Amino acid sequence: MPSAPDDLIPKSPRDPSDLEVSDSGECEIPREEVEKWLVEGGTKRVCGQILLHAASRGMSGVRMSPVGRDVSFEGRSESKHVRLLSFPLRFRQPLFDAFLELAGVAVGSELPPETVFHLESGTGVVALQASFLRGLSGPEVIVKILPDLREGISLDSVGFSSGQLDVTEKLLRKGNGLFLVSSPGPEGVATTLFAMLRDGYRPGLRAITVEERHRFRNEGYIQLDRRQAEDRFSGDWSRLAESLEPDILMIEHLPDPAAIVDLLHLAQAGTLVLCGIRRFNFDRALRTLLTLDVDPFILAYVMRLVLHQRLVKLLCMECRRPVPARPSLRMVGERYRGELERIVADASFYLPSGCPKCGGTGYSGRMALIELIPFTPGVQNIVASEGTLEEKLSRLMEEDLYSAAQSVQEMLRRGMVTYEDVAPFFR
Ligand SMILES: [Zn+2]
Repeated sequence: MPSAPDDLIPKSPRDPSDLEVSDSGECEIPREEVEKWLVEGGTKRVCGQILLHAASRGMSGVRMSPVGRDVSFEGRSESKHVRLLSFPLRFRQPLFDAFLELAGVAVGSELPPETVFHLESGTGVVALQASFLRGLSGPEVIVKILPDLREGISLDSVGFSSGQLDVTEKLLRKGNGLFLVSSPGPEGVATTLFAMLRDGYRPGLRAITVEERHRFRNEGYIQLDRRQAEDRFSGDWSRLAESLEPDILMIEHLPDPAAIVDLLHLAQAGTLVLCGIRRFNFDRALRTLLTLDVDPFILAYVMRLVLHQRLVKLLCMECRRPVPARPSLRMVGERYRGELERIVADASFYLPSGCPKCGGTGYSGRMALIELIPFTPGVQNIVASEGTLEEKLSRLMEEDLYSAAQSVQEMLRRGMVTYEDVAPFFR
């Protein structure tokens, strides 16, 4: 058949499907653009660029389905559906396979229920969730563009006191080093780590997060599931770093604290590493760190900050009920006694009750209380010194501990927590 004037699609040897664009109907993406994509990388490139196009237009998703004699890509916004592009129906299967490849699913394998994947564009990372269907009429793809939630919780709303906030932000601005977040349980750790990540992130940096469960939030980061990442890189974080080259690596939960040594080496090479571990209290977290099988000099100069947090329940302010009895300060440590005596003399104390607003629980939510030690020159000297573990620990607590006492005292003064809930902070 002789070439028609509009038969402009080059027959790229890289594209065995000889993809050509349909002429029928109005389409949003110009043919010339599609030709360029095809030359650059065949059908996979076309599918990726269609998705990035839709994301850049603020659309919520893209659907590939048959329309008449064509397979059509439709972009979806709240109320409007736009035809982005059409191809003759015979290209349906190659395009379907290209989407599978894009989403990291092996062609020919069982279709996954829903698959989250990421695409990088010049301006950032787009998170997508694909559903692959084999309908009666043939294969279809529905891709949801996960919304950008970068305006999430910030560092100052997580539970840092103002002093803790200042020193943490200052250290994050260095753009490298290791930040360790310890907590007794899984709750609240991701929130703190994400807030730190947002603070340390700058446009153009490649940020990779390794999470316990995918929260389907898209903040312009490449998000991995920990178990998948461990399978893929055999639990070796330096292999992950070699392969994905992160500027920032955030790991929500590191099951084996010995692996902190690998992370220290990554951080030493220039990556900003934010990492969560489970430890019962701050003392245990520090012991874990100080007994690592690593050169104390590297530990001292690559660590930026170690932090322990625990969540306390916040009283529902609508229904909390005052208790006339003053709490006993019998168990309070000497260093907190003076301040607590003043609080007990001035403030009112409350207990939870229950109302419709708090669903009868008596509490309105939880908040992280944080203790931290920044690796200032004084702290670095102690860590790199020859002292015993116990000597180092007690000197560290004297040197530069940002305790939670200030925040806890403030919450007590304002009647936001019960005394019993926060008493452990004053021992
Ligand atoms: Zn209530």
